[in-house]
Amino acid sequence: MEKSTSGFEHKPFGISSARVPRAEIAKIGNAEKFTTKRLSGQFQEWDTAYFGRLEQSGISLNAAQIAAVRCTEGPLLTLAGAGSGKTSTLVCRTGYLLDVKQIDPSGILLLTFSSKAAAEMRERIAALPGISSHDAARIQARTFHSFCLWLLFSQGMQKEIFGDTRRQHIQLQQIMRELSLSDAYPPENLLALLSSYKVNLMKAEQLPESSEADRQMKRILLRYEAWKIEHDRIDFDDVLTLAYEMLQERPELLERLRRRFSHLMIDEFQDTNLLQYEIVKMIAAPRNNLMVVGDDDQTIYSFNGARSEFILEFEKLYPKARVITLDINYRSVPSIVGLGNEVIKHNKMRRNKTLRAAHNGALLPAYMRPESADDEANQIIAHINREVSAGRREYGDFAILYRSSSANRAVLEQLVIRDIPHIDYGDGRLLYEHWLVKPVIDYLRLSINRRDFDAMPGILPTLYIPRDKGMAHIQATDEARPKKGPLVHLLTLPGLKDFQLDKIRQRLEMIRSLKGLVPTAAITQIRKSFYDTYIQAGEHSEQTSHREMLKEMLDELETSAGRFDSIVSFLAFVDDMLLRNQQTAAVKSQAQGNRVALMTIHKSKGLEFPAVFLIGASEGTLPHSSALGADSLRDTRIGSEGEASYTEALEEERRLAYVAVTRAKEQLFVSSPALQRGKKAAVSRFLLSAFGQDTAASDAAIRSEYSGRRSGPDPTRFGKVRTGRMGRSGDAPSSGGNTAAQRTQSVPVWMCTTGSCVAWTRIMHSKDMASAHKPCPLCGSPMKKGRKDVPV
Ligand code: ATP
Ligand code: MG
Repeated sequence: MEKSTSGFEHKPFGISSARVPRAEIAKIGNAEKFTTKRLSGQFQEWDTAYFGRLEQSGISLNAAQIAAVRCTEGPLLTLAGAGSGKTSTLVCRTGYLLDVKQIDPSGILLLTFSSKAAAEMRERIAALPGISSHDAARIQARTFHSFCLWLLFSQGMQKEIFGDTRRQHIQLQQIMRELSLSDAYPPENLLALLSSYKVNLMKAEQLPESSEADRQMKRILLRYEAWKIEHDRIDFDDVLTLAYEMLQERPELLERLRRRFSHLMIDEFQDTNLLQYEIVKMIAAPRNNLMVVGDDDQTIYSFNGARSEFILEFEKLYPKARVITLDINYRSVPSIVGLGNEVIKHNKMRRNKTLRAAHNGALLPAYMRPESADDEANQIIAHINREVSAGRREYGDFAILYRSSSANRAVLEQLVIRDIPHIDYGDGRLLYEHWLVKPVIDYLRLSINRRDFDAMPGILPTLYIPRDKGMAHIQATDEARPKKGPLVHLLTLPGLKDFQLDKIRQRLEMIRSLKGLVPTAAITQIRKSFYDTYIQAGEHSEQTSHREMLKEMLDELETSAGRFDSIVSFLAFVDDMLLRNQQTAAVKSQAQGNRVALMTIHKSKGLEFPAVFLIGASEGTLPHSSALGADSLRDTRIGSEGEASYTEALEEERRLAYVAVTRAKEQLFVSSPALQRGKKAAVSRFLLSAFGQDTAASDAAIRSEYSGRRSGPDPTRFGKVRTGRMGRSGDAPSSGGNTAAQRTQSVPVWMCTTGSCVAWTRIMHSKDMASAHKPCPLCGSPMKKGRKDVPV
């Protein structure tokens, strides 16, 4: 097989005969040539002059893009594949509104998903020909959160933003201690649960109470909500909720906003949640000069409340909406566009589209099958170094993308060790600092130094002893009677029951037994003897995809430790990494600059890079194990159960693969380690099926392996939940909406009659109810009426 560059090949491992996917090259000859056009005719002179100036500055829009730019009144849905110029069209339309339509810049509201995307949008508008920097600055180009915050502040709100996830976690832990539920629930889960309610226009008071766990979580969250009110704090979801309530309660304010914002535009519309959409609809009415831009193939936040069906339902809500489709990819070389097409075409729940490429280019994506994540990291970093040394690329040309944040452990370490400039767009913490991993490290520390007082607080919750109380007792007793292992003082802590005393004795024994072990064996011992069970107990023995992520982290820790033959050397490495990372993290700027970018696929949405490495493209990672076992997971998150839940979770994973692949402009490297966290892993089905391989048989085997690994509760009990998430970082999904499981209602819907198509849309209007026929928005087949359970 032809080698592209050392270690990389032009087809995924296991593919021999298939041809390499390649997109058709589009003939873009039909756009008007404005610079040479006579200044008369269908459109007025300034229209022609505007497009002429765009052309001169190097932006030559195609016919569909021009149509979208010119469509300035009424609702407009621009649907398009990745890299087809959706954001560019939105930017040029803004310029058109200013320059040609003479719209007051302060009347334009542009909303997008991330602050990075909003900043880029502002820059691109300011760079348009004929747009003054003064005008550009007056446009509101913001994230939903920043817009709502602006609104709240403009109305005199003085609350403090309580947005730091770490502090939120600490507060929740504090509340749990007060309620004698110390560390009973991971704070991520609690926040996710609360968020899932809020983005669906519900409140903590509406949380269910059908089980003891439900009631406990509700108590914690109600107290958390009350604490925020008492302390004049609001978190990110409150920002949206408060803005929404303010608009509902103050018609005069809404009216002012409606008068002010004559034109609204939303980028990345496919990832809008209900709360965000309601806010936009309110402000846009009654003019409804609302342009939404999206790609159903890039819906990757459904665990966060995103509702891609808004795209499908837009025309229903706004029957006069114009729909413009863009299908020419300007970003990538044809082989990357082709691979993207072949990856995504296997999803059923989508509007059918095949992207063509605007440019020619001979470079082919390269594939690698390294032994492990560490081997993968070595080869990738060596490749980056070679390219940079040879002057072919700069560090800032590269991005490394991965499915879940713990998957960057090996590459991050290599970058830190080799002192390569890089920026981690995650939370900036190493695996070893995570709340889940830290207690395990602390046990290791105590095994080699039983008087390590810094390591003690971290392990106390694992003995169900409150940190403060436990440490105060240990320190006070040890001052009076010092011991080789001060943890033994816990045996005299007042109020402990016999079984707790037994547990402490067992744990002290275990700490002593770790000393002679190699670090992997020690970690395995910690996990097997109590830690895995402890984490499960914390989750009340219910299966959640969040738990899958936690397990993944501990597996990753074991993999990392496997490189060292003593606990001492492993801990020395961990400490060195922590120190170096602290120094790197001191560089605060979020701009990539000339640095290698590391981010989850979720974070990479809307971005592009000359060269992209997609790492961990193996079964169990992409698709992620949480999706492979989705039919048995407690927090099935897409609103269905069993088979449908599995299919939907897998489709979201495929969309993630599609988003990752389509970030690359010139070069794409995809790597599928043979061992993932110590276990054999096949090449991702998304790659194999893109090369025409039938993956049905292996799917059945892998699926039963992942479902079989669980002994979870009856999956149907937890079936119908839409949301839940793990923080705000664009990370992998967590549990969260799970306890809302029973809160569903049966509603009338249209369902596609084609067996292979899973589309359905809700019947919202009596007119819709009265009509006898409706074509499927996905495949065009007839639909029939029926009922479906949806979250309340
Ligand atoms: P995504 O789906 O990732 O959000 P997108 O559809 O928003 O992508 P853009 O980011 O707007 O696509 O454009 C992708 C790339 O193509 C950018 O580098 C942009 O400058 C370029 N591009 C877009 N339209 C044109 C055009 N008509 N001519 C030349 N280049 C274009
Ligand atoms: Mg975009």
